Amino acid sequence: MTDPSIDLINIEKRYGSQVAVRGVDLQLNASESVALVGHNGAGKTTLMKLMLGLIRPSAGTVRVLGEDPVASAAVRSRNGVGFLPETIAFNASMTGAEVITFFARLKGVPKAEGRDLLARVGLSDAAGQRVGTYSKGMRQRLGLAQALLGSPRVLLLDEPTTGLDPQLRQSFYAIISELRDAGATVLLSSHALTEIEGQTDRVAIMDRGRLIALGTIEKLRSIARLPVRMRISV
Ligand code: ATP
Repeated sequence: MTDPSIDLINIEKRYGSQVAVRGVDLQLNASESVALVGHNGAGKTTLMKLMLGLIRPSAGTVRVLGEDPVASAAVRSRNGVGFLPETIAFNASMTGAEVITFFARLKGVPKAEGRDLLARVGLSDAAGQRVGTYSKGMRQRLGLAQALLGSPRVLLLDEPTTGLDPQLRQSFYAIISELRDAGATVLLSSHALTEIEGQTDRVAIMDRGRLIALGTIEKLRSIARLPVRMRISV
């Protein structure tokens, strides 16, 4: 059995007296996609920041690709962890091609890979267009393309499909499935259980900092202890 790509053991994260995350155990493997579902303030972004090594846990252990992400060169390497934040600001006067080239340089990835990724997310035709003219969906796809630079082994996507129309959402999920099939570990967060249903291998449900349910959607359907607002309609 190989080690998990992401291993969170009894994590707690406090901000002063505010407890953002408490008692979270979560293991994600290679070739696996998991949705992290919860309402505003449930702790989803905090967990991702811990996995990125941007913050340290107040208690517990975080391992990503076998290492502490705060100190790990492997996690930061170009094929380590890719991240799409909830909101990503691009310079509106740059074209899509310029933006992806900029990120490719930052990651030490050949420019051609950036071009290929623009094609993969369906932005080839708009590559010469200024990002200021892009729709929300186009900006999200550009954000996904930058997260995919370097073929990361772990991909963290913070609410990537919020505000996207159903067709665009499906194209996002199709790309996520391909990455998973290619061996990546994909964690994406969402407010809406119904929206991600059937799109990932497992679902992790957070409520007020706690991981209250984890498993396949079929397993979660049978769990009666989910708060009413989280229950899935069957
Ligand atoms: P959203 O869906 O709104 O992005 P979330 O599930 O990602 O919510 P977090 O952003 O992780 O939730 O926040 C969890 C809790 O921690 C919230 O109560 C939030 O107010 C608090 N929190 C997050 N970051 C900080 C911070 N830097 N300082 C103080 N409190 C914080």
